[in-house]
Amino acid sequence: MTSPVLVLLDHAADGALRPSAAELVTLARPLAGDGGVLGAWVGDGPGPDALAVLAAHGVAAVHAVRPDADPALSAVTAEAVTAVLGATGAGLVLIPSTFEGKEVAAHLAASTGAGVVTDADGVQLQDGVPVASKTVLAGTWTTRCSVVGAPAVVTVKANAVPAEPVAAPREPVVVEHELTVSPAARRVELVERTERAASDRPDLSGAQVVVVGGRGTEGDFGPIEELADLLGAAVGATRVATDEGWIAKEAQIGQTGVTVTPRLYIGAGVSGAVHHRGGMQAAGTIVAVNSDPDAPIFEIADFGVVGDLFTVLPQATAELRRLLG
Ligand SMILES: Cc1cc2nc3c(=O)[nH]c(=O)nc-3n(C[C@H](O)[C@H](O)[C@H](O)COP(=O)(O)OP(=O)(O)OC[C@H]3O[C@@H](n4cnc5c(N)ncnc54)[C@H](O)[C@@H]3O)c2cc1C
Repeated sequence: MTSPVLVLLDHAADGALRPSAAELVTLARPLAGDGGVLGAWVGDGPGPDALAVLAAHGVAAVHAVRPDADPALSAVTAEAVTAVLGATGAGLVLIPSTFEGKEVAAHLAASTGAGVVTDADGVQLQDGVPVASKTVLAGTWTTRCSVVGAPAVVTVKANAVPAEPVAAPREPVVVEHELTVSPAARRVELVERTERAASDRPDLSGAQVVVVGGRGTEGDFGPIEELADLLGAAVGATRVATDEGWIAKEAQIGQTGVTVTPRLYIGAGVSGAVHHRGGMQAAGTIVAVNSDPDAPIFEIADFGVVGDLFTVLPQATAELRRLLG
């Protein structure tokens, strides 16, 4: 591939880069041609902090698009990325696999005729063609999908690649674009925005470590939360736990909940039903604590502890606390 690779730089409203940005730039580096890795930034900014992260990870140029409509709307972001694609001739676009990111990818496909792969966990070049890998059918199959034709749009799951800085950082060139958004993209209006209650825990879908409780907790998530906080982890749950009202619906992992791709998943009192597995099977390392030695989760666990979670988890937390000093 001789063309540059474009990465959609996901950032918070205050301009702070989300972890996906450095991860996708790292993934893009070996795929990019002479034009290098380009960033698409939609909205105000980027500020000096974001630019420093992008420099450290080897971004050659940042195309900062200021649309005359709310960039929180995926149709607006898609038009901004389309404009950058037109200006740069990038052959591959990498987008974080969030709900918003997948909407942007769909808009891009419709407007540019691009081929799209969603929820990829890797991208490689084969004879100059991007080939994305992804798991399908609740994690039972691993597939490789090539995008023939250009541009190729791939949405990439969180934590698919660890972010790695380059040896010789270089300040990226910033190219500013003003964008007049089409009437079609203005059909959706953002009426209200409600901030979720602040939590010190990481976002579930992007978390590197997730500690999950199921029916076995009987509603007491105390040991789950204590271990999660020690590990800087997000707290997740099975559908049973959320249906019972033991924890908020947003914590549900699985086919009808959030898909997580952490480096470490710890499930306690979770049987490992197929509907749950579909949302967590791609975790790097799976640890299961269950009192039933025949629980299906042990079939996919890298480490299993047969025992009562109310004994095992506090012991693990105490030992980890000792080791961490
Ligand atoms: C269409 C559909 C969609 C669904 N979508 C989802 C989804 O998105 N996510 C999801 O999670 N589920 C989903 N489900 C439900 C799913 O099929 C299972 O019912 C659910 O995942 C089971 O949750 P669980 O593991 O907490 O409970 P259970 O299956 O009841 O397992 C509880 C486990 O806890 C163990 N245990 C009990 N006490 C202890 C203890 N003290 N210490 C240690 N272990 C203990 C038991 O041995 C058991 O293995 C869906 C179902 C349907 C039909």
